[in-house]
Formats: sequence, C-alpha cells, structure tokens
Amino acid sequence: MKISPKLTSTNHSRDVAGLTYVYPVISRRAGGLSIGINFNPNNACNWRCIYCQVPNLKKGSAPKMDFALLEKELNNFLNDVLHGDFYQRFNMPKEQSVIQDIAISGNGEPTSIKEFTKAINIIAKCATKLGVLPQANLVLITNGSFVHRKEVQQGLKVLDDYNGEIWFKLDSVTAEGVLLINNKVLSPSAQFSNLITATNLCRTKIQTCLVNYRHQGLLESEKQAYLILMDRLKSLNLIKEIMLYTIERESFQPEAVDLEKMPVETMENFADEIRTMGFQVSVC
Ligand code: SF4
Repeated sequence: MKISPKLTSTNHSRDVAGLTYVYPVISRRAGGLSIGINFNPNNACNWRCIYCQVPNLKKGSAPKMDFALLEKELNNFLNDVLHGDFYQRFNMPKEQSVIQDIAISGNGEPTSIKEFTKAINIIAKCATKLGVLPQANLVLITNGSFVHRKEVQQGLKVLDDYNGEIWFKLDSVTAEGVLLINNKVLSPSAQFSNLITATNLCRTKIQTCLVNYRHQGLLESEKQAYLILMDRLKSLNLIKEIMLYTIERESFQPEAVDLEKMPVETMENFADEIRTMGFQVSVC
C-alpha cells in the first residue's frame, strides 16, 4: 500500500490528492478533516491579501468549470473517505478521521466563478446523496465582494437550503486597513453592505485574520473601528459568531518579510472584548 503524505494543519497543498477541484485538509478552524473544493485552479483572485498562501497568485476570476469533472472527483473522493482506505493511506489519527466539513475555499475567490449556483448545487446534492450532508457542515469561505451579483445571491440561497454557512472575510473594517491587508479599495459602507447582503441570504460567520505587520500589533484605531462595527451588528442581531485567527504558514506575497503571527495574548484580549458584546468568539 502506498503511504501518501501525512495531512497536517500546515499541509494545505491543493495538489495533495492529485485532483483538480477536490483536496483534503486537516483544518484548525474545522477541527478535523475538511474536504476542500477549489473553484480557482488558475490561482486567480480579485484580492491580494498580504498573508495569502496561494502560490503564483494572480489577479483575475475563477475559470470556466468542468462540472462533470467536479461531480466525478467529489463522488469518488467521498466514496474513498467513507468506504475506502483513505484515512490509513494518509496516515490520519483516529480522532481526526471524521469529515467535519466540505469547504468551498480555493486558490482565489470562489464566488468569481460564472455558474456559481450550478457548482453549489452539484456539491450539495452529491454530498447529500452519499450521506455526508447534513452531518458535516457545508461552508463557503469568501471575501464577499461579489454578493451583489444575482448569480451569487442565487447560489447563496441554495447554500442556505442545505443549511450551509458563509465564512465572511473581514480582516479590517477601515478603508486604510483593507487597502493594506487585502490590497483592495473598498469603503467601509460597501463592505458593510456586502456583509448584510450575505447574512440576509445565508447563515454567516465572520472570519478575521489578524497579522502582526511590521511589529505594530493590533492598532488601536483598527480595534476601535472593529468594535464599533460589532456594536452595530449586535443591534441588528444577524451575526452570532466571530473567528479570529492568525497566520500559521508563510505568505507567498512580497510582504511576507513584514508579517508575523499576532501574539496569542493580543488575540485573546481582543476576543474577550468582542465576547462582552454578546458574540461567540473562537481564537485559533
Ligand atoms: S481573498 Fe483569499 S485567495 Fe484571495 S488574496 Fe485573499 S487570502 Fe488569497
């Protein structure tokens, strides 16, 4: 029997299973086996986050999808995990030998794909037919920048039909912070509007990556702006959970030399402040 590379939380290579769209990951955030679906095998994204770990990241959108291949890969892969020797081949410990989620999270922004709804439908139906859903979570990890598109909104409704969840990237809520961290010109009001649109279509969690840029730690101005936004969200009662995380692997962006993990103490103190506002906050 061929022993495949051990899957760990630091081995996020999309090529580990040798497929185009489907890859396995041990996810810190999911707490077990996460089956990733990569809509962006061309490594193209409309953002360029300075902590991005996508190799050869380029500006652009997801390419046209081969839907038959997506279905075939997912079907075969799930069958291998459920009924084959996948866990032994990948040398996975017993306690992690469970599918925690199917995460649509690729080498770029997944909602940039043209037929987003069709892709979500294929994934949800295939995973339901094989009994993976509804036990596992169905998650879309997105920067939320295309939620104004009708096609994306329709796909998010399908995600919601399958009790799926959006993990909405919100690394900074100031225009300067978004420009620095995500290399994106985005006003706080447009970002807020994207977030509200997402929450109205499907259950949404916020995920915030905190990086220690040039040893500055968490800037007071960024922290205060974030807490003001949380206060606004609390009054709307649309979001319950926030995930704070920091970098675990090296960025492939030129700014990598300027980045360090955010200290745990800073993360925990910030989490406590958000918790006092009534949110559930996880730190990883
Ligand atoms: S949104 Fe995701 S894929 Fe795109 S640049 Fe940022 S981290 Fe990379």
